[in-house]
Amino acid sequence: MDRPHALLQSIFGFDAFRPGQQDIVEAVASGRNTLAIMPTGGGKSLCFQLPALLRDGVTVVISPLIALMRDQVRGLTEAGVPAGALTSGNTDEETRAVFDALEAGRLKLLYMAPERLASGGTANMLRRIGVGLIAVDEAHCVSQWGHDFRPDYLRIGELRRALNVPLAAFPATADAETRAEIVTRLFDGEAPETFLRGFDRPNIRLAFSPKDQPRRQILAYAAARKGQSGIVYCATRAKTESLAAALEQAGHSACSYHGGMEAQNRRAVEARFQTEDGLIVVATVAFGMGIDKPDIRWVAHADLPKSIEAYYQEIGRAGRDGAPAETLTLYGPDDIRLRRTQIDESPAPPERRAADHARLNALLGLAEALDCRRQTLLGYFGEEAVPCGHCDLCDHPPERFDATEAVRKALSAMLRTGEYFGTGHLIDILTGAATDKIRERGHDKLPTYGVGREFDKRGWQAVFRQMMGRDLVRPDPERHGALRMMEAARPILKGEATIELRRDTIAAAAAARPAVK
Ligand code: ADP
Ligand code: ZN
Repeated sequence: MDRPHALLQSIFGFDAFRPGQQDIVEAVASGRNTLAIMPTGGGKSLCFQLPALLRDGVTVVISPLIALMRDQVRGLTEAGVPAGALTSGNTDEETRAVFDALEAGRLKLLYMAPERLASGGTANMLRRIGVGLIAVDEAHCVSQWGHDFRPDYLRIGELRRALNVPLAAFPATADAETRAEIVTRLFDGEAPETFLRGFDRPNIRLAFSPKDQPRRQILAYAAARKGQSGIVYCATRAKTESLAAALEQAGHSACSYHGGMEAQNRRAVEARFQTEDGLIVVATVAFGMGIDKPDIRWVAHADLPKSIEAYYQEIGRAGRDGAPAETLTLYGPDDIRLRRTQIDESPAPPERRAADHARLNALLGLAEALDCRRQTLLGYFGEEAVPCGHCDLCDHPPERFDATEAVRKALSAMLRTGEYFGTGHLIDILTGAATDKIRERGHDKLPTYGVGREFDKRGWQAVFRQMMGRDLVRPDPERHGALRMMEAARPILKGEATIELRRDTIAAAAAARPAVK
C-alpha cells in the first residue's frame, strides 16, 4: 500500500478517499501550489492534514473558525498527530505549551487565526521553526466582494512570500470571480493547480415549484413527511412565526428561529433540534451556521433564497448522513422583486451589486431550468455531470414551447406603456381586462390591448416570471416594481432570436385553451 493510503487508514481511520481527495492530497503533498474548491462537509481537512504528515516541517493552517480549530487539534492529538492552535480562545498556559512544542520541533500542524498574522513576531517565529506548507481554510474570506471578507486574510500572500513555501487554499464556495481574487491575493496571480470536486450531493433530491399558495404548499409538503426532521427557510422573521404556528396547528412539532430572537431562545431551539426527532424549524437564514445534525430529512424554501450559493448551502444541510433527503424551493415574481430590491438597496459598491444580481440570476436560471436540475446546479460550480435521474425535471421533463410571440407581446405591452407598470397591469392589458385603471389611462386603445388572450392571468404570470428568470426584464425598485426591458430581450423583440419557455408552469387550463388570435 502507498503511504497516503496507509496513513488514511492508520491515522484517520478511513477505508478509502472520497472523490477528489486523493488527487488533492497528492498535489499538496508534492509541494505544488493548490486551489481546491470543495463544499462544506466534503472532507477538505483531510486534504491538508494528510499532506502535513507527508511533508517535512510544520504545516501552518489558517482558519477563521476557532471552535473548528480546537476540534481538529483535539481529533489529531487523539489520533497521535502532534498539533496545536494559537487562537484568542487559548489560555496562557495553552499558548505556552504550543510555543514550547514548536521550539522543540514537536508539532506537525499549527492552527492559527488570521489575526495572528498582524503581529510582526509571527512571521519571524514561523521562519525559525521551519514551515513546510501553508494551508488556508475558508480561503474565500480573502475576497473583498465575498460575504465573509476577513481583512487579515490579505496578509497571507505576504506570509507565503516571506516563507517561500507551497500554499494550499481551500475555499468552501467560489464562483469564477472569487476564484480569480484568491489567485491574485494568495498566489500573486500565478495559477495554482486547481481542483473542483465533490459538489454533488447525490442523496439530496432537488425540486422547485412555482409559488402558488405558499402556506398550503409547505403544509402539504410537511404533511407528506410527518415525523421527519426538516427546515423551512423564509425570507422574513414574521413569516417564520406565522408558518411555525400553522405547522403546529396541523399537528407537527415546529418552532420558529430568527436573528431577532434572544440568544438564549435561539440556543434553546438549536438544542431541541439537535436532540428531538421530527422537529420542524421554520427559520430565516440565521439558522444553520452551527447546525450539524446529520439526519435532517428535508429542507423547504418558502421563499426564494438570495443566490445560488445560498441555495446550495441551505439545501446542503439535509441528508448529511448520506441517506435520502428531499428539498423543495418555492419561487414567484414577488420573490424575484424582493431579492432584486434587496440587492439594489444594499450599501454595497456597484460591482458587488452587479455580482449579486448575477448570483441571483443563476438561481433563477436554475428555478426555470429546462433540463436536469442537478446538472444545471453543478454546471454553475464548474462541475460536469450527466442527468441525475432523480430530480423533479428528470422525473417529469417539462413541456417546452416556442414562446417568442408571447414574449414579444409582453415586451411590446411594456414598451408602449413607457416601462411604467408592473406585471398586474401589463397582464390586464394583454388579456383585455376592463379595469378602471385601463380606462383611465386609455390603455384599451393600445394596439397590444387584448392581444394576449391565449393565456389567462396565471398563464401570463408564468410567462413574466420566466422572463424575469432569464433576466429579460427586471422590476425597477425605484418605480414600484415597474418592469424594465434588459438588453438581452432586444433580439427577441426585433425578431432576431427565438425563445423557448416551459409550458408546465403555465396554468394547465390556460395552456389547454385554443389560442385566440
Ligand atoms: P469540511 O470539508 O467541511 O472541512 P471535513 O473535513 O470536516 O469537512 O469532513 C467532513 C466529514 O467527512 C468528517 O466527518 C470527516 O470525518 C468525513 N470524512 C472526510 N474524509 C473522509 C473519507 N475519506 N472517508 C470517510 N469519511 C470522511
Ligand atoms: Zn436530474
